[in-house]
Formats: sequence, structure tokens, C-alpha cells
Amino acid sequence: GHRAAGSKSDVRERTLIAVKPDGVQRRLVGQIIQRFEQRGFKLVGLKMLQVSDDLLSQHYCELRTKPFYPRLQEYMTSGPLLSCVEYLIVWEGHKVVQASRTMVGHTNPLEAQAGTIRGDFSFHISRNVVHASDSLEGAQREIQLWFQKKELLNWDCFDQTLTCEV
Ligand code: UDP
Repeated sequence: GHRAAGSKSDVRERTLIAVKPDGVQRRLVGQIIQRFEQRGFKLVGLKMLQVSDDLLSQHYCELRTKPFYPRLQEYMTSGPLLSCVEYLIVWEGHKVVQASRTMVGHTNPLEAQAGTIRGDFSFHISRNVVHASDSLEGAQREIQLWFQKKELLNWDCFDQTLTCEV
């Protein structure tokens, strides 16, 4: 089939999706993974962890000084009184960064369209279920922050000529 020059690198595009503690507690992880699988993206990294204040502030380095940051930190991280668990997931495929932002929906769930993850599963900005990298550079930075190279798998999926390699 026809393949545009340079598209080989596009199909290797990767993004980071996190299921935040509310999504994990509400048992939404399976449904969220399913949406990316059925869209045709390839799962290349997956882990479950408890996020520390330090790693969270590196992840959200641009938001550290915002007035809502303390509340965001309380929601996302594990302290002595609360053990928050999140899932970190790396998806690969053509234009996956842009596609994921569309699938996740507006930051404020009240503005998110029905059919998006936030629009279907949440109603408040401080409990919006998922994170998705917002740019190629952001995705690279976040994936490096949360994953070691050996934790990301290059594997061949049988249907990739029908899905990712367009
Ligand atoms: N957030 C919040 N209040 C705000 C803005 C953001 O609680 O006024 C939280 C919300 O959980 C959001 C996260 O901070 O998902 C990161 O904000 P960002 O602007 O990066 O939005 P996102 O990329 O997650 O849509």
C-alpha cells in the first residue's frame, strides 16, 4: 500500500496517559485502556505506582506555582494518611498525542464533550480521571520521567498494517 515519505517515524509517536487515583479507585482502568486499544493504538508500557510529591512536581513543573497546585498534589500523591495509586500507560501510533487529547477531552469535565473520557466519567476539574501529554515534547519529557528505557517494549502487532501504519 501507499505510504507517505517519513511516516515511519510518525507511527512510532508515543504519549503518556495516566489514570489518576480517582480513576483507579472507581475501577475505570479497564474501560480507559479499552478505548485506546479499540482506537488501534499499541500499548508499549504499563505500570502501577504510588506517586511522590517530588515526582509529581517534576511531572507538573509548569503548574507548581499555580494556586490550585496544593489541591492537585493532595489529589494525586500518597501521603502518610492516604495511599493513592495511579496507572501510567504509554501508547504508540500515528498522531497519538493529538488523538489522545481528543479522546480525553477538555481539562474541565463540564466542558468536555460526551464521548470523551472526561465527558463520560467525570464532572469536576479536580477529579478528572486521566492525564494525557499535551505535546510531542511534553510526551517525551513525561515518558522519560516515569519510565526506564527497558520498560518500553518494541513489539510487532499483527494488525499494525491495518491500524497504526497508515
Ligand atoms: N487542575 C485543577 N484546577 C485547575 C486547572 C487544573 O485542578 O484550575 C488540575 C486538573 O486535574 C488538570 C491538572 O491540574 O488535569 C493539570 O492541568 P493542565 O492544565 O495541565 O490540564 P490537562 O493537561 O490535564 O488537561
